[in-house]
Amino acid sequence: MTKADLKALVRTIPDYPRPGIMFRDITTLLGNAKGLSACVDQLAAPYRESAVDAVAGIEARGFILGGAVADRLGCGFVPIRKQGKLPGKTIGQDYELEYGAGVIEIHTDAIAHGARVLLVDDLIATGGTAAAAVKLLRKLDAEIVGAAFVIDLPDLKGRSRVEAMGVECYTLIEFEGD
Ligand code: AMP
Repeated sequence: MTKADLKALVRTIPDYPRPGIMFRDITTLLGNAKGLSACVDQLAAPYRESAVDAVAGIEARGFILGGAVADRLGCGFVPIRKQGKLPGKTIGQDYELEYGAGVIEIHTDAIAHGARVLLVDDLIATGGTAAAAVKLLRKLDAEIVGAAFVIDLPDLKGRSRVEAMGVECYTLIEFEGD
């Protein structure tokens, strides 16, 4: 499945969740068997020889893709969740994203000291969410192998923001604009 095929499976919903946002809805891609499989294969491919110890996925769409990528890489999955959702002892980090702000959290015992972690989410826009996830993982002394996303919105420059933190980003498709 080519990048153009994957792109054609993403549905765009204008003015969601608020006016002016072009929401890139991946539920249509996830619902397509070939699309889902190709997407997970392509996200995992660059990291097959990277000795990844864990995939960390960001709530909620990063869970679907991150869990599948972890399975492909033969490692475990660690959830990074919105505040108040994880039952154990957590640490948190404030973040701002394209259309809001909040706090994300991770279990303090989720990552072994020095573990090699791959970060996965569906989309990078301003990079605020991914940057916060990088900070959280580093608070737990993770070694971040990279950050993989299905969609990049290059006009919002999130990729360069995260790469400026020393984390290489890998994305499958791009949409112009925001
Ligand atoms: P950001 O922190 O600005 O990079 O935003 C990335 C996070 O917000 C990801 O978890 C995305 O799922 C979500 N997001 C931001 N902008 C969009 C958009 N235009 N379409 C779909 N999801 C988005």
